[in-house]
Amino acid sequence: MTRTYRAVVIGGGVVGCSVLYHLAKAGWTDVLLIERSELTSGSSWHAAGGFHTLNGDPNVARLQAYTVSLYEELERISGQSCGLHLTGGVMMADSTERMDFLRMTHARGRALGMETELITPREAKAMFPLMDETQFVGALWDPVEGHLDPSGTTHAYAKAAKVLGAEIELRNPVKDLTQDSEGMWTLHTEGGEIRCEHVVNAGGLWAREVGRMAGLELPVLAMEHMYLLTDAMPEVQEFNAKTGRELVGVIDFKGEIYTRQERDGILLGTYERACKPWSPVNTPWDFGHELLAPDLDRIAPSLEVGFRHFPAVERAGIKQVINGPFTFAPDGNPLVGPVRGLTNYWSACAVMAGFSQGGGVGLVLANWMTEGDPGHDVFGMDVSRFGEWATLRYTNAKVRENYARRFSISYPNEELPAARPAETTPLYDLMRDTNHAVMGDSWGLETPLWFAPSAQEAHDVLSFHRSNDFEHIGNEVRGVRERVGVTEIANFAKYEVTGPGAEAWLDHLMTNTMPRLGRLVLTPMLNEAGKLIGDFTIAKAGEERFMVWGSLGASVYHMRWFEQHLPEDGSVTLHRFHMDLVGLSICGPYAREVLAELVDEDVSNAAFRFMDYREMDVAGAPCMVNRITYSGDLGYEIWMKPAAQRRVYCAIKAAGKAHGIVDFGMRALLSMRLEKNFPTWFAELRPIYGAYEGGMERFVKLQKPAFIGQAAATAERDAGPRLRRVSLVIEADTADVIGDEPIWARVGEEDFGTISPPHGYGAVRFDLHGEEVAKPDPARDGDWRVVGWVTSGGYGHSVRLSLAQGYIPAALAERGEEGLFEVEILGERLAARIALVPPFDPEGEKMRG
Ligand SMILES: Cc1cc2nc3c(=O)[nH]c(=O)nc-3n(C[C@H](O)[C@H](O)[C@H](O)COP(=O)(O)OP(=O)(O)OC[C@H]3O[C@@H](n4cnc5c(N)ncnc54)[C@H](O)[C@@H]3O)c2cc1C
Repeated sequence: MTRTYRAVVIGGGVVGCSVLYHLAKAGWTDVLLIERSELTSGSSWHAAGGFHTLNGDPNVARLQAYTVSLYEELERISGQSCGLHLTGGVMMADSTERMDFLRMTHARGRALGMETELITPREAKAMFPLMDETQFVGALWDPVEGHLDPSGTTHAYAKAAKVLGAEIELRNPVKDLTQDSEGMWTLHTEGGEIRCEHVVNAGGLWAREVGRMAGLELPVLAMEHMYLLTDAMPEVQEFNAKTGRELVGVIDFKGEIYTRQERDGILLGTYERACKPWSPVNTPWDFGHELLAPDLDRIAPSLEVGFRHFPAVERAGIKQVINGPFTFAPDGNPLVGPVRGLTNYWSACAVMAGFSQGGGVGLVLANWMTEGDPGHDVFGMDVSRFGEWATLRYTNAKVRENYARRFSISYPNEELPAARPAETTPLYDLMRDTNHAVMGDSWGLETPLWFAPSAQEAHDVLSFHRSNDFEHIGNEVRGVRERVGVTEIANFAKYEVTGPGAEAWLDHLMTNTMPRLGRLVLTPMLNEAGKLIGDFTIAKAGEERFMVWGSLGASVYHMRWFEQHLPEDGSVTLHRFHMDLVGLSICGPYAREVLAELVDEDVSNAAFRFMDYREMDVAGAPCMVNRITYSGDLGYEIWMKPAAQRRVYCAIKAAGKAHGIVDFGMRALLSMRLEKNFPTWFAELRPIYGAYEGGMERFVKLQKPAFIGQAAATAERDAGPRLRRVSLVIEADTADVIGDEPIWARVGEEDFGTISPPHGYGAVRFDLHGEEVAKPDPARDGDWRVVGWVTSGGYGHSVRLSLAQGYIPAALAERGEEGLFEVEILGERLAARIALVPPFDPEGEKMRG
């Protein structure tokens, strides 16, 4: 007889077991995990078992902290030990650049409530005596790190899930998946058919194959990974005997090495440059509990550095070399969530750090499945963050790049080269070769970042400080503000919504009222909880036709939401343009003169007003023109077919010559939007903030007919937002903010309620020697407290100010006085004040003029 479940999880590795546990905990007990062999038959069994909380994305870091805090609960419910060793760990810097990176990591951690400490190499050596401290310049101590027993932990999840009512079926491979017209899934297994409403792909090493069963090509690839175990080492035994403690974990960036104590010896793993994909196209189904052949030559360069930095390890005998595969997405973060275009097919794949992230992945996926929302900001791991360009070969190139760079410094102005160019517009060669543009990757699309005076200068000098682009971006910004500039804006998402139901449907999705014919509106989009899930410009282009522009990087994320909410009666048709619609923006005081020369229409201020939309020929090419720009100047966004883009661009340049037109890139545009206090999607506007917190209330029309998130937005208005987005002017002169820096305020004991992200995380406090102690709150310093965090920032070149945006408690948001705030940049706390009005054109006269 065919069995039926509410949800079936495919895969009994640590991730599948965590999803099962969290589903059962959320009350879905009619759930099954199906495993082709025994539990941990993929990468989970041979993992090194390390865990840590630090991650470049603070939202992912928070979920890692959740994972670590979960183990005690799992042990309690399951009665199964996870073999937890909470040792703490140090990250070792061998250069000033790496020390800058650690300072930044430490500062960011404060805003998240992490309790990291910057320490000297000698202090690090006191915790890990095998190192030669003279090889390093400093270190960062993180108390919430350690290692565990991978198999025990996976079984603890599984047992705890069973205690809560979930079922597990072993030795039954899923061979295929089908879905009927009612949306029910059938799993075709070796043991017969199983039906379910929801299916979860937690196939780990076979995630790609389980994806293919539903017609998906998930961007995931397995890499070989090696670590070695030494024989017992007298130095380790001596330290243990003398101190009664275990050695701490160490990350040595220079050697691309992680190391820690394992029994009486050392475990040492590498993320080597000469990395190697495993099964790049098809994963063999007969691979099981076996290891790959070791290849020490490949990791020899890392070992050489390692032996220099940890001389005692070279003297130790190597007991065993483990080489096993595990999977990665192109950016190294997991692929989690509902897959666009499929009903009730959920991804829980590409989890490269299952023992740091598995709990968080299980939590958000279970929230999403049972409540319709992940309950956290998970964009950094959302399966929707990749587009159609993330093919098998793209994934292969990016995963190798990401693996080889795992312990490299990531600079804020760094553009990674692998798999590029993926997508280009017709202007690509002209921009790069003739105009000396430094190009960046914008969701797979090559986009001009800034323009250099010569080919030789057209590259970024990587730095945490202001770099070689600073002067040139300044010239671009001043060129726009004083004269006129042109830039490519193909890197927007563009949609067309048509049909008799188009207006009512958009009105129901968006917070603002829809525009009149020929007009534009700006509008956020909310989820049911009233959180920001989108920010769009919408034009009414015809009686039953609307053009919608949004963030390119959120295209799949938004399409998934749009498609979930499309009416079933066929009254609305939705089309996403990709690179079949491209754009140019002209802005600055002479923008109107330039446009007027290229069109036969009246584009005077009276005839073509701010926030008007018009279809007209520009340089003879049919275009859609919006009278709006993100720079906050007088300006236009012009949209055309790719075949016409080069002609329109060249005509704009020719018409602008008399006015001293400049090319400007994305970095200049982002600088100009900061001068206007304009927020940006992914930074200021994210699903953890409400519309009022984000300062978007003038685009929220609570009185209009029902829209998604209306009740929650009304409640937010009535209760008053807890947080507010603010713009800050910082007394910085060599480096500007990057994002996630803490905002300090001299507020003594003033009470603002709990701010998010919450402080403390439930992290245990340890001193440098691993003793649990009461320590001063790292987010306090006398009367100063960390009250918020930076979301983005940079230099405002026309107003000549270092600017940032961020979130602080609402009670502080109107306090514009000097001396109240500081922002921590690269470990230095710098005076800051709130910019209550935009530093550039506060009344908005220029864009309306
Ligand atoms: C050498 C090495 C060291 C590592 N060190 C660490 C570390 O220190 N810390 C850390 O956090 N992570 C580490 N990892 C990574 C960690 O192992 C992975 O993040 C984790 O195992 C991923 O778990 P998973 O459940 O996604 O996948 P897997 O463990 O691969 O599990 C997938 C399961 O799905 C089953 N399955 C697949 N297809 C089907 C099907 N069609 N039907 C039924 N069942 C199916 C498989 O049999 C398998 O049991 C390491 C990995 C390696 C190889």
